[in-house]
Amino acid sequence: MSKKVLIIGAGGVGSVVTHKCAQVPEVFSEIILASRTKAKCDTIAAQLKRPIQTAQIDADNVPQLTAFLKEHKPDLVINVALPYQDLHIMDACLAAGIDYLDTANYEPPELAKFEYKWQWAYQDRFEKAGLMALLGSGFDPGVTNVFCAYAQKKLFDEIHTIDILDANAGDHGYAFATNFNPEINLREVSACGRYWEQGEWIATEPVSWSRVFDFPEIGPKKAYLLYHEELESLAKNIRGLKRIRFWMTFSDNYLMHMKALQNVGMLGIEPVEHKGQKIIPIEFLKTLLPDPASLGPRTKGKTNIGCLIEGVKDGKPRKIYIYNVCDHEEAYREVQSQAISYTTGVPAMVGAMMMLTGKWRGKGVFNMEQLDPEPFLEALAKHGLPWHVKEMPIETPCQ
Ligand code: NDP
Repeated sequence: MSKKVLIIGAGGVGSVVTHKCAQVPEVFSEIILASRTKAKCDTIAAQLKRPIQTAQIDADNVPQLTAFLKEHKPDLVINVALPYQDLHIMDACLAAGIDYLDTANYEPPELAKFEYKWQWAYQDRFEKAGLMALLGSGFDPGVTNVFCAYAQKKLFDEIHTIDILDANAGDHGYAFATNFNPEINLREVSACGRYWEQGEWIATEPVSWSRVFDFPEIGPKKAYLLYHEELESLAKNIRGLKRIRFWMTFSDNYLMHMKALQNVGMLGIEPVEHKGQKIIPIEFLKTLLPDPASLGPRTKGKTNIGCLIEGVKDGKPRKIYIYNVCDHEEAYREVQSQAISYTTGVPAMVGAMMMLTGKWRGKGVFNMEQLDPEPFLEALAKHGLPWHVKEMPIETPCQ
């Protein structure tokens, strides 16, 4: 089997995806890494033990990207640029007849709002073209969706509640930095929270609800309720679900900086006039903050991301935590990136492998939980992200 893959985006995640694809030449026999800044692709290529092709591409230029796809004819495009490029890359894939994969759902640049509706609207066009688009093949979304699908298939007869937990106990030593693209990260965290219960979406004030969870290998950590994109597809695809929420840990220091930046308008996405020039505050802030790809050599500690799931098995209540722990320093030793990029890049490679080997096939647009979780989870553990299922005590009301 000889397959060619085009990876678009040479940031923290793009670097890990490229390293991981290069480790599996029996699937990814040819790799092209293309991004807005070619020098970044060349730096990544120089770290690898086998040659890859690199190219400059502006993924927002659909005719140029379509021509590039028609010339190079990859079997799959892995989109690890930014969510703003999703629809443009999907358009080019349709025009050139090529399968598509990404790790984050579309977000219009001028609106801090992410929803699947824009990408789900491509269902008919991908189906009619006989092509497959796999959405959200990172960790969360991504592995968290697959954990839920596995729980539904193997661990429960009925699932009642899901709490997705994302803890990062890593320390990069900076006063303030984000672990992935600062603009996307800060837009997500500073937005209103939202969760789904009994068919309704319930909104909460930004970072206003918190709970302490005891994370295996990390210990107790305060996590805040956020809206996260996998809630939308899981609420639709997990049968009989009554409630689903998403929680992420933040240090008091991170939240203090974010609030101060928000209070002075630095998270603004509208242009402001500055000395006769228009600037978008959050874009300027990105220029000032450390590049997430540079955090690798400085970050110590672990991440723990998983799903706390409650329901019924064989007539009895059951509660489990299904999770992965990833060590920032080990990730850096292997692929020269910290664990946030690693936990996103490995599932992107594994999702691509599922598509290219025919283990996951279909026509249309798919979320991860719609496909068979077992081959994915087997490959995930083999390629650097082992996972575990922990039985949790059932809390009974006071007698
Ligand atoms: P970075 O900002 O580090 O990298 C983004 C890359 O995309 C950069 O190399 C950038 O180029 C390139 N790019 C931006 N615009 C274009 C364009 N128009 N054409 C071509 N290339 C472009 O981001 P990350 O690597 O941290 O994140 C990548 C993606 O992964 C994001 O969509 C993010 O939301 C997602 N993600 C998903 C997670 C998950 O678990 N599902 C977790 C973390 C991230 P340049 O270098 O010139 O700026």
